[in-house]
Amino acid sequence: MQKSVRRCEKCGARMACDRVSNHCGSCLRLLITNEAPVQPDEFWVTKSIQAALESRHFGCLFAAYRKEASPRLSQAVLGRWLGLTQAQVSRLEMPGSRPPSDLVKLERWAKALRVPPGLLWFSVSHPSGELAGRGSDLSLERVHRRQFLKTAGVSATAIGASLLGAVPPSRVAARSRAAPMSRSCAT
Ligand SMILES: [Zn+2]
Repeated sequence: MQKSVRRCEKCGARMACDRVSNHCGSCLRLLITNEAPVQPDEFWVTKSIQAALESRHFGCLFAAYRKEASPRLSQAVLGRWLGLTQAQVSRLEMPGSRPPSDLVKLERWAKALRVPPGLLWFSVSHPSGELAGRGSDLSLERVHRRQFLKTAGVSATAIGASLLGAVPPSRVAARSRAAPMSRSCAT
């Protein structure tokens, strides 16, 4: 008897024939999780996410987030992470809708989706340790610089080389010996 190819009910990915679930691992995780995953830096610099952040419209960010997530997210799953119904997510995403401006909500959503605080147009009052670290690390300025370097291609390598050359190894060693002043840079 020939074994038929099994596919995930949600995303269509090929699965092992003996898999008990009707969903692949990625989709299953999304179906059972109540929390947004930590997205890689690359996720936050995609065009649609950047455009949504620049428009300062959290509903647009919902739509962009769902589109860029892999596998693509339903409004219902995103809503569950945010404490919203599918209908509420749909209304907020509606093109031409007024951008939500309630800061309490914006903060809650930003935290729920783990948006790096450095990318937001408002400040999050009590970021968790993990997010605070990423926020200072991932600012719009740095993202843009990285995109610039990416497009600059060959010259980026040259810049990198010149940056490396700017601090000779002997000076790095000397710096690390000068303890208190270098401490802030070391971490
Ligand atoms: Zn799947």
